[in-house]
Amino acid sequence: MKKVGIVGWRGMVGSVLMDRMRAEDDFQGYEPRFFSTSQAGQAGPEIKGTTYQLLDALDAAQLAELDVIVSCQGGDYSGRVYPQLMELGWQGYWIDAASKFRMDADSIIVLDPVNRKVIDQGLAAGVKKYIGGNCTVSLMLMALGGLFEQGWVEWVTSQTYQAASGAGAKNMRELVEQMRIIGENAGNLLDTPSSAILELDRNITSTLRSELFPAANFGAPLAASLIPWIDSPMENGQTREEWKGCSETNKILGTGASLIPVDGCCVRVGAMRCHSQAYTIKLKQDVPLAEVEQALAQQNDWAYLVANTKEETLRELTPARVTGTLDIPVGRVRKMNLGPEYISAFSVGDQLLWGAAEPLRRMLKIVLEHLD
Ligand code: NAP
Repeated sequence: MKKVGIVGWRGMVGSVLMDRMRAEDDFQGYEPRFFSTSQAGQAGPEIKGTTYQLLDALDAAQLAELDVIVSCQGGDYSGRVYPQLMELGWQGYWIDAASKFRMDADSIIVLDPVNRKVIDQGLAAGVKKYIGGNCTVSLMLMALGGLFEQGWVEWVTSQTYQAASGAGAKNMRELVEQMRIIGENAGNLLDTPSSAILELDRNITSTLRSELFPAANFGAPLAASLIPWIDSPMENGQTREEWKGCSETNKILGTGASLIPVDGCCVRVGAMRCHSQAYTIKLKQDVPLAEVEQALAQQNDWAYLVANTKEETLRELTPARVTGTLDIPVGRVRKMNLGPEYISAFSVGDQLLWGAAEPLRRMLKIVLEHLD
């Protein structure tokens, strides 16, 4: 029986992965083993009545017994352990949530509803490293996959509205803490409907600007505000998050020399775990809107078209509606004043599901089928 090791199962991405694997009854047909860098020897997850004891995630010899390793542990861990496995001559498959190996020539970024062909070619060619994509990129491709598949896209800009969860668990807590303090400080004014709105506004502004306002993780207020900077600076003026838009999209799609430009401004907003994106898409030709809509709706089982009406948009196209689901609503689809080849669209997706855990869960199944 094949042996599958799961490292980082109790972190944020790992927990969502475990939930999905339980929900899909994935723990069968192989022997799962669970690892921790800090809790080896302790009780790990319980699956179907069996509690698994945690093994040492830093013990390369133990890891080398595995056929497949799924890591949601982080880039430092991958960078430390994978080379040790290579030294031991390990021949297994490495599936990783971290970005560490994403752009390596011998890795494939996995998003099988969109790039199953690239994955299958990789498996046939003996590629062993399969890496989850950047959440924003994966969610864009789940939403716009139909247009790329048709070969219609000349370029895309994506202006993002990214959730706190992309920055980690501490940041999610900080956002809610910020909301609490804003609400508490404004409580009396809110409870007095006759109070002047500008007084309420001044109260909020003074809370946001207070030195005591909790913003150590984000570095600035996010609740009742936004932060137009995600990740580290690149030399060309982009942030690294923005840089990933083009580099990862093209790697996922396997576009090779015919690169499709992707760019935009990545912005953190006060959503919990859904990233939203507003797109301007330049098509290579004037495609009728009905055909664009059909392509968007049909590419995969999770993306679906939301009618461009206020009622449907408010019902379907919000983080509040989508969070915790695999749904990828795509709406506000229309031709733009810029010309008949220009399409505007908006999508929402849960960045811990399609943006992180789900492509890994599915890749594990694909690898196991391949090994069968
Ligand atoms: P995380 O929540 O910080 O978890 C990583 C590890 O931290 C855990 O597996 C656990 O490992 C350890 N840990 C220490 N204290 C913990 C506690 N109180 N609760 C749970 N775990 C604790 O990291 P993550 O956000 O899941 O990210 C993991 C990797 O996925 C990173 O490389 C990240 O860049 C990537 N990723 C993240 C996202 C996202 O949206 N967050 C999206 C895509 C990819 P031990 O058991 O070994 O101590």
